[in-house]
Amino acid sequence: MAKVLITGGAGFLGSHLCDKFIAEGYEVVCMDNFVTGSPDNIAHLMGNPNFKFILHDVTNYVYVEGELDYILHFASPASPIDYLKLPIQTLKVGSLGTHKALGLAKAKNARILLASTSEVYGDPLIHPQPEDYWGNVNPVGYRGVYDEAKRFAEALTMAYHRYHGVETRIVRIFNTYGPRMRLQDGRAIPNFINQALKNKDVTVYGDGAQTRSVCYVDDLVDGIYRLLLSDETDPVNIGNPAELTMLELAKEIIELTGSQSEITFEDLPSDDPKVRQPNITRAREILNWEPKVERKTGLIRTIADFKKRLHIV
Ligand code: NAD
Ligand code: UDP
Repeated sequence: MAKVLITGGAGFLGSHLCDKFIAEGYEVVCMDNFVTGSPDNIAHLMGNPNFKFILHDVTNYVYVEGELDYILHFASPASPIDYLKLPIQTLKVGSLGTHKALGLAKAKNARILLASTSEVYGDPLIHPQPEDYWGNVNPVGYRGVYDEAKRFAEALTMAYHRYHGVETRIVRIFNTYGPRMRLQDGRAIPNFINQALKNKDVTVYGDGAQTRSVCYVDDLVDGIYRLLLSDETDPVNIGNPAELTMLELAKEIIELTGSQSEITFEDLPSDDPKVRQPNITRAREILNWEPKVERKTGLIRTIADFKKRLHIV
């Protein structure tokens, strides 16, 4: 039975990855310090003999008993409100935490996959973004704490690959949504759903003309699984290229929830990317992967999960 360590495993994406690897017959070790994650996300796995949870901050020396075949390094705040509130922890987990995870991969002779992000492209000047675009990031801006941590993490991962021969994979994840996102997560989809279900004003930042391309979590997990098992060491974008403006997204969610909410416009956060859309040619060619879940279907499933947690019948 292959054994996988998932750092950040009690978070939104990490917990779905724990489910995937348990379902595929792996032994899963989930490591998290709950800084933005929750025990609720993994409660259903507790007691499963193939699942083990370790409460630990991965910026400190990481110890895992026995052999390890794979490491998925997902620990990091990911929502802008989280990393703006936790700037130093975010820089530390991207740098020191990635260093610890890579050191563990080297010691255990394990293959490691780094969760990187479309934020490495910053406010992109090339659209859609292919992997060979180097990005447009403001290192001293508020978002720089996240973007530069991930850019450093990518550089460190490639250095461990080239210098130590560690088997590495890098996924650049584009905006992903789905069940288990925190109700107060602060990202656009959870905010809009939460507000719409409570018939409160739906807060669109700026004029809402900025775009994103949102991917349903099951598609992302499938892409990550394929990448981990592939031979590809260069970064691969995983995301859904269906692009829309944030105003369109707000309207869609109001309609799907049957809400009475009005849209209000608030200040745009600084350095907020104006456009974002993955070029997924490499994922298609190398992984034979593309997203399958239509946005409407994914949003309906996510709304159902939010309703359940908000006790709305
Ligand atoms: P999340 O906040 O739900 O999950 C992150 C998890 O990491 C949480 O459980 C948190 O407690 C844990 N964590 C943070 N710092 C830690 C530390 N020092 N030690 C141990 N655990 C720690 O966010 P998410 O959306 O699930 O994102 C997971 C990963 O995917 C992150 O690395 C993020 O950068 C990346 N990512 C996510 C998206 C997205 O759209 N969801 C997009 C791009 C990249
Ligand atoms: N956004 C918004 N209203 C909200 C939350 C976010 O208009 O209540 C905007 C935000 O300014 C950005 C887009 O939605 O332009 C996506 O934001 P999110 O935090 O989901 O992800 P990121 O900016 O990291 O792509």
